[in-house]
Amino acid sequence: MRVAIISDIHANLEALDKALEIIAQKNIDELICLGDLVGYGASPNECIDLVKRHTNGVLLGNHDQAAIDLKQADYFNTYARQAAYWTNAALTEEHTQYLRSLPYTHVDTEFTFVHSSPYEPEEWHYVFTIRDASQNFGHFKTAVCFIGHSHVPGIFCEDQRTKEIKKGLRYLINVGSIGQPRDGDWRLSFGIFDSDSWSFETVRSEYDVDSAADKIVQAGLPRFLAERLYNGV
Ligand code: ZN
Repeated sequence: MRVAIISDIHANLEALDKALEIIAQKNIDELICLGDLVGYGASPNECIDLVKRHTNGVLLGNHDQAAIDLKQADYFNTYARQAAYWTNAALTEEHTQYLRSLPYTHVDTEFTFVHSSPYEPEEWHYVFTIRDASQNFGHFKTAVCFIGHSHVPGIFCEDQRTKEIKKGLRYLINVGSIGQPRDGDWRLSFGIFDSDSWSFETVRSEYDVDSAADKIVQAGLPRFLAERLYNGV
């Protein structure tokens, strides 16, 4: 089975459109979204519509939660907080209810999926280092757990000597971000895991960043949120 995993779309319709176009050509059996459908970008309702239509499972992210419960935005920096208030006002009632229905984790026979970390997923911990990752391997049972949240793609193996995907070893895999990558590479990022060949691919692709950035400025969102898209930060 080939599963595609997307995360951290952040209301960037142009990046999501491009990712779905690629996924349609990649023989995918299942598509899972790890959350943060909204926040930062200018197309929250359009992105929710597409995610609902194309995915087999969707999780709640911290920006989804803040957009429907503004007191959660108190923990955000000023740009993220402004975006949460803007998104809260922009969301349709139907989409607000939809975000409210999303779970923190999804587990199937082969994989665990979570937005932030398998340890206390509702606390939105970040996994940046192998040390962060090592605290999480005791908190999921499958061989592989997919995460997002940091917007930085990466593979953490429980056996710290390797990053290669091998059967019998356990992994935390961050698939990166569709709508706001932060690893210094502005191209959208998502993952594809093939459980027959037991292999993983991080897909990177250019998309119409000018259009996404223009919409952010036109919407009256902070200009910084448009500019950062070009730098991948
Ligand atoms: Zn995010």
